[in-house]
Amino acid sequence: MRVLITGAAGFLGSHLTDAVLAEGHEVLGVDNLCTGSLDNLAHLEHEPRFEFLEQDICQPFDPGKVDYVFNFASPASPADYMRLGIETLMVGSAGTRNILEIAAKYQARFLHASTSECYGDPDEHPQTEAYWGNVNPIGPRSVYDEAKRFSEALVTAYCRYRNVDTRLVRIFNTYGPRLQANDGRVISNFMTQALRGDDLTIYGDGGQTRSFCYVSDEIDGILTLSRSDEHTPVNIGNPSEWTILDCANAVKKVTGSSSKIVFHPLPQDDPTQRQPDITKARTLLGWEPKIDLETGLKLSLDYFRSSIEAVA
Ligand code: UDP
Repeated sequence: MRVLITGAAGFLGSHLTDAVLAEGHEVLGVDNLCTGSLDNLAHLEHEPRFEFLEQDICQPFDPGKVDYVFNFASPASPADYMRLGIETLMVGSAGTRNILEIAAKYQARFLHASTSECYGDPDEHPQTEAYWGNVNPIGPRSVYDEAKRFSEALVTAYCRYRNVDTRLVRIFNTYGPRLQANDGRVISNFMTQALRGDDLTIYGDGGQTRSFCYVSDEIDGILTLSRSDEHTPVNIGNPSEWTILDCANAVKKVTGSSSKIVFHPLPQDDPTQRQPDITKARTLLGWEPKIDLETGLKLSLDYFRSSIEAVA
């Protein structure tokens, strides 16, 4: 197959590119590099089955015939999407539409990267795919949440009205090598702070929860979904739920750091809890994650060590 991956220079996009190449396919990776980095693709410089196009998907383009499309282009860390608010809204609307038109033109199968942010600050716990969410449409997170919710509606409409063969994955917090060390996310911040001996910055009292999935598990779940015929959203994440305070202590343990923990104000609309119900993925795809948080943090240590050395 010839596979189009948008957001290919990003954290998930680049791991997905590697996994699709490993299956023997050709990949055209597209990225405008607004948050992605060519460092994530540097190891593919001499890979003849990989081609890179620097392109903003909000502008129409024709990649030529493709058989499968993975739409992963979007700023995704809260710090990035709040800095690039309008770009985030546009890539989730005009950008997604352009990529759906490509899938329609070439009758390519399509998988869109959606998010647990569709559930907002959820008042149902854990979150099943049937939950409609609790999203502030004008809050600081709205540029991301509403773009992703609009994308889900658009993808579903192209499936319903234009017969595009679509899939929607709702991705929960994912971490691992290539997560940008300075992207402001909790794992990147805690790992770099712990390794430098700086204070670990907890926002709020640290009682809010997240459920962290190691990147190889996430990619495995996404690829398994890509081979299925399910058109409605599927949660792919690790159901093991952590308070942010426990997460900070896990990072301290794995890094052997004696950093202090300090508390900062909680950002507006920060979700108080998040945990995927993965019954659908388990029953439909036979998928579940294998790597627990401490193991995944250990697997990420070398990467975070070398990223802080690179900027030192
Ligand atoms: N967080 C924190 N300290 C940090 C970065 C994040 O306590 O240095 C908290 C943040 O307020 C949120 C959680 O960790 O409650 C996860 O934040 P992240 O930015 O990784 O992603 P989110 O799940 O909020 O999109």
